[in-house]
Amino acid sequence: MQTLDIPKLKDELKSLKTKYGDNRSSLIPMLQDLQRNYRYLSGTIIQETAHSLGIHPVEVEGVVSFYSFFKREQQQGKFIIRLCQTISCNMVGKERLAKQFENELNIKFGETTKDNLFTLEYTSCLGMCDQGPAILINDQLFAKVTPDMVPEIIDHCKKGFIKGNLPIIEMSDTQKKGPILQHSLTPGDSITKAEKMDPQDIINEIKESKLLGRGGAGFPTALKWQFAHDEKSSEKYVVCNADEGEPGTFKDRYLIHDQTDLLLEGIAIAARAIGAKKGFIYLRGEYGYLKLFLQERLDSFLTKFKNIDLNIEIRMGGGAYICGEETALIQSLEGFRGEPRNRPPYPVDTGFHGKPTSVNNVETFIATALIISKGADWFKSNGTDKSTGTKIFSVSGDCEKPGIYELPFGLTISEFLKEVGGEDAKGIQVGGAAGICISKEEFNRTIGYEDVSTGGSIIVFGQERDMLEVAINFMEFFAEESCGQCTPCREGNVKILDGLYKLKNGKCSTSYLRELVKLGETMQIASKCGLGQSSPNAFLSIVKNYKHEILGRMAESN
Ligand code: SF4
Repeated sequence: MQTLDIPKLKDELKSLKTKYGDNRSSLIPMLQDLQRNYRYLSGTIIQETAHSLGIHPVEVEGVVSFYSFFKREQQQGKFIIRLCQTISCNMVGKERLAKQFENELNIKFGETTKDNLFTLEYTSCLGMCDQGPAILINDQLFAKVTPDMVPEIIDHCKKGFIKGNLPIIEMSDTQKKGPILQHSLTPGDSITKAEKMDPQDIINEIKESKLLGRGGAGFPTALKWQFAHDEKSSEKYVVCNADEGEPGTFKDRYLIHDQTDLLLEGIAIAARAIGAKKGFIYLRGEYGYLKLFLQERLDSFLTKFKNIDLNIEIRMGGGAYICGEETALIQSLEGFRGEPRNRPPYPVDTGFHGKPTSVNNVETFIATALIISKGADWFKSNGTDKSTGTKIFSVSGDCEKPGIYELPFGLTISEFLKEVGGEDAKGIQVGGAAGICISKEEFNRTIGYEDVSTGGSIIVFGQERDMLEVAINFMEFFAEESCGQCTPCREGNVKILDGLYKLKNGKCSTSYLRELVKLGETMQIASKCGLGQSSPNAFLSIVKNYKHEILGRMAESN
């Protein structure tokens, strides 16, 4: 940790402005670099940063307080051990691991050791749901951690944190590959072909494929590109949303590592289609260990395809789930708190710096690169009429073969569970914490946009799982991650969570539970963005499908 020397700090700020640009949009990467050097962001650092960018210190303070990875307190350990508290890690022994860390370090979670070496924190999903429990120590990830490994991990840190000493991280098991994951293209095939195509022809080919955005909302990709293309602006942007933070989702992490060329080609193809000269990859903060790898691949891509008039920059998230929402992501790119904007206007006409911007997710870009090379008919030969193509799934929980799956849309849930070795499940959560919980009675439903749509997260719950604990875990997540901008979401998530605690303690009446259900339904229509609109989904579906479990805990009923 550097001690604070103000003239030196001013010099450092000058070089950071040269590195990132002398504008507000550079604020977050500048703060990230400063925190790396000084371990926390003191009042002086905030003042000087604000001064150097010509903004008010309160603005900088507001940004620092929004992102969970920024620290204002000096009392931070050299090693911040973040333990994932998402349901998938809970299901494989997170509690015992937490206890062992507390025992070994003689502190509780939320505390720092007296020698300022270690801090213990809980964190939201680390994207290692098939290999939990997972911990992140600074930027290094450890998966499948068991309590007996804890002394070795602590020792590893004390000895200087030599990378590679504990090679616990693995990329996920690819359990099933399909036409996307086992394509036979040579790097460069797709972008070379696209460079010879008229932008409108690129959009037409994507339109013909009927590709729907793979982030979960299922908006037609070609329509998004068409809107951005049609805008009469000389300044446009393409953004890759690599901020997958949905609990239970880890396929983008795998794709970024395994299909990097196709991802970069997809971004370049989108830029050509809409007429953008600048692109961003917004990589979630929890995937910091992938940044160097991605930067090297990006540099060699841009060197190899010098003729493409496109600059792509990688920006790191700051540990805020809401930044997966496209307008919040743009706010973050501009150097603000990741608070969603009112829509309309939509990013395709009023996006980054008010200019037309297409935001697509990792899997969508990869699909577009393949469609351009292999054609719309190739893509449509899988899936259903409304949900064309295959989908990449992140599967975790109580099944024999967790990992990555590429499967066509149109399978029933029973067929899906057979594939992953989860036939005995009592329910599955489709679409992460924001998705719905489906019980055995509905396992004949179809996975696809016409019935059960999903961004790709599937968490399997075995017969022994306590569904009230599942609901509590999801609502704790949303109560923490709500940006707090609108009342239904800010207050609603906390109220429902409080009601779930009451249920657990046998202190919730059925009439109160009915009120909570009404509250959840109100949040679905009255919240400002997708987070608040979808956060009650799991709670509502668990109450509907597992009433016998929920009601059994009542102290009184009406
Ligand atoms: Fe923020 Fe929640 Fe409102 Fe979205 S719904 S703007 S996350 S408070």
